[in-house]
Amino acid sequence: MQAYQQQYLKEMGIDVWVDRQAEQVLNVSEDITASNVSKAITSERQIPEPAPKSVQVFPEALATLKKEVSTCEKCELHTSRTQTVFGVGNPDADWLIIGEAPGADEDRQGEPFVGRAGQLLNSMLLAMGLKREQVFIANILKCRPPDNRDPKIGEVIACESYLRQQIDLIKPKIILAVGRIAAQNLLKVDTPIGKMRGNQYQYPDSKLPVIVTYHPAYLLRSPREKRKVWEDLKIAMRLYKNIDA
Ligand code: SF4
Repeated sequence: MQAYQQQYLKEMGIDVWVDRQAEQVLNVSEDITASNVSKAITSERQIPEPAPKSVQVFPEALATLKKEVSTCEKCELHTSRTQTVFGVGNPDADWLIIGEAPGADEDRQGEPFVGRAGQLLNSMLLAMGLKREQVFIANILKCRPPDNRDPKIGEVIACESYLRQQIDLIKPKIILAVGRIAAQNLLKVDTPIGKMRGNQYQYPDSKLPVIVTYHPAYLLRSPREKRKVWEDLKIAMRLYKNIDA
């Protein structure tokens, strides 16, 4: 574990120990105060910036898919996008983080989860013992809906095969769906996210586990909900720990 991560977790009020073989955070204290969680997930100190896009080299199949997505015109969103936002991260990641769709910053930079929400996601990952570079981050939609409106069902359907191909190529062990739009579209339900939290799901037509939590952009507006997110992340970590057990 990196020194900055140990320091970060200490500030968060989480007791951790490291399995030297697995190099993963395995034990997380339950007695975390809401204020500690809020402080930790809010902290922007020591959060590594995302790697520049230029260093992102994908294996051939994933690179080919990215190239295909970059010229996609399967839905009307291609007319208003600055560029497609394919996803970033480790192409062999165990963890796949799935959000809704690019926002203005993402559309401009071509990378998902940048800006304040992205920094908050980085914090959530760090709290789990994960650096942004270790996971893969993608969205349901690869193009920005104008004015950040909700995705239309036709757009989700049009874009769906790209996400499925990403999952097939990356072969994650677990998916963390962040936000209502991501969770509902990924799992094909219309259940309110508040009722989805705390349960384990499976990605359709697979045994790939899915855990649902709130979107970091929502947490920026409702910081009191950070404790709930931490509960969700702990569920995800326990689940992940048992996948290979
Ligand atoms: S949102 Fe998806 S389906 Fe629509 S144009 Fe962009 S890449 Fe194609």
